[in-house]
Amino acid sequence: MKEIGHWIDGKMVAGTSGRFTEVLNPATGEVIAKVALATTAELDAAVAAAAKAQPDWAATNPQRRARVMMKFGDLINAHMDELAELVSREHGKVLADGRGDVQRGLEVIEVCMGAPALMKGEYTGDAGPGIDLYSMRQPLGVVAGITPFNFPAMIPLWKMGPALVAGNAMILKPSERCPSTSLRLAELAKEAGLPDGVLQVVNGDKEAVDAILDNETIQAVGFVGSTPIAQYIYGRACSNGKRAQCFGGAKNHMIIMPDADMDKAADALVGAGFGAAGERCMAISVAVPVGKGTAEALVERLIPKIEKLKVGPYTGGADIDFGPVITAQAKARIEGLIDSGVAAGAKLVVDGRGLKIQGYEGGFYVGPTLFDEVTPEMEIYKQEIFGPVLSVVRQESYEDALKLIIDNDYGNGTAIFTADGDTARDFAARVNVGMVGINFPIPVPLSYYTFGGWKKSAFGDLNQYGPDALRFYTKTKTVTARWFSGIKDGVALNFKALD
Ligand code: NAD
Repeated sequence: MKEIGHWIDGKMVAGTSGRFTEVLNPATGEVIAKVALATTAELDAAVAAAAKAQPDWAATNPQRRARVMMKFGDLINAHMDELAELVSREHGKVLADGRGDVQRGLEVIEVCMGAPALMKGEYTGDAGPGIDLYSMRQPLGVVAGITPFNFPAMIPLWKMGPALVAGNAMILKPSERCPSTSLRLAELAKEAGLPDGVLQVVNGDKEAVDAILDNETIQAVGFVGSTPIAQYIYGRACSNGKRAQCFGGAKNHMIIMPDADMDKAADALVGAGFGAAGERCMAISVAVPVGKGTAEALVERLIPKIEKLKVGPYTGGADIDFGPVITAQAKARIEGLIDSGVAAGAKLVVDGRGLKIQGYEGGFYVGPTLFDEVTPEMEIYKQEIFGPVLSVVRQESYEDALKLIIDNDYGNGTAIFTADGDTARDFAARVNVGMVGINFPIPVPLSYYTFGGWKKSAFGDLNQYGPDALRFYTKTKTVTARWFSGIKDGVALNFKALD
């Protein structure tokens, strides 16, 4: 059995805890490796080594740090297919989507190549007589990234790029379900010129995470995962005096107005609802058609498109639309939620339960599922299903549809399909969700903007990647400097304006 350890001080090391968890290939259900789960002592040792390496890295001029990002980007590109395969083997998503996972992370590394320009401070000459005022952004020291299973390349790259280019050392704790991509990325970062110890990949579960939260050297924690864990991590990190940004789960709605292009809206919903088996924090899981006619026209178009979807292993060729969900437990939970929707009276239009793929009977497959006439009291509406299940919640008016979204606990992404610019503008202005699509179903901002939800989809301040991430991983120092031949006024005890 292959044993996966940690990446410490520029090399792979075996875990010493004696504790492991299985890494599965969700397409077959086979155990493909076991990954070591770090103890607090192992985590603390990795942090101590990172703290030793960080000052030299911080003292490396910003352009040289950016050049490491350039080389890293080249290497990620050169190893695109290999990385995509690593993603798909442990996650289950199809290879084209595995490449997308790597690509959207690479784009953040590309922005990090220009980080010196984004990290410049401010300067005011002659802010007072002989007085200059300037600010600088300095790295925090050792920071941590804790990432989920569903984007094994993209989210670790969102964390490591900005943190490292800003001059920090990083402890990355990837999901124990998909650990291999982060380890390979760490090897490539070393090949790109990243000094040993500056990036430590520590595998583990709750013990390693709690050790991160309680370690006094770690200054900041960037977390991505489910909402209950995000809230827990935010609370514990903050109470230990750390900076924390914790991104959580989602329930993303798409409004379909009567004037929308129904074919395009249906295509968009199928892609956004079922791509990656619905295991995306920006998946659309709730379609909100406005008016009975819109609902009928939409569902009528959705059914044949959904029934045509092909589910299978990532090795099954380019015509497979999406793969399995992550574990047998995830499959059982999703199918249980579908049962609960039926019991609660929702209309099950396409049933994905009990799907078996010939030759892959052990895989964790759930077929695409469509519910109509879902209401907000039902569990299938309230919970983030994180599977290939799309719910249609019919509404009478635009105001009702908007209110449904505003009242939802989550606020990651949302979309509206309409031909009316005024409605679209109103929606973008009034909806309390962090990322909004107009005739665009998955509005993940490009890497020179920033990514973040509102309400229970994010705890803390500042978004991921882009300028916000560089702010999150640096602190501001402001210097007031006076240069003249001696202080002539004697001691000043009052708090003076710089006049
Ligand atoms: P998860 O919360 O189970 O795990 C995320 C990380 O937290 C992992 O590294 C895991 O080891 C750790 N963890 C799990 N349980 C823990 C505990 N009790 N104590 C401490 N640490 C713990 O999430 P997941 O299942 O890996 O990922 C799916 C979730 O992530 C979904 O809810 C999805 O919406 C969300 N997500 C959010 C975003 C975003 O940017 N908002 C992006 C991707 C995924």
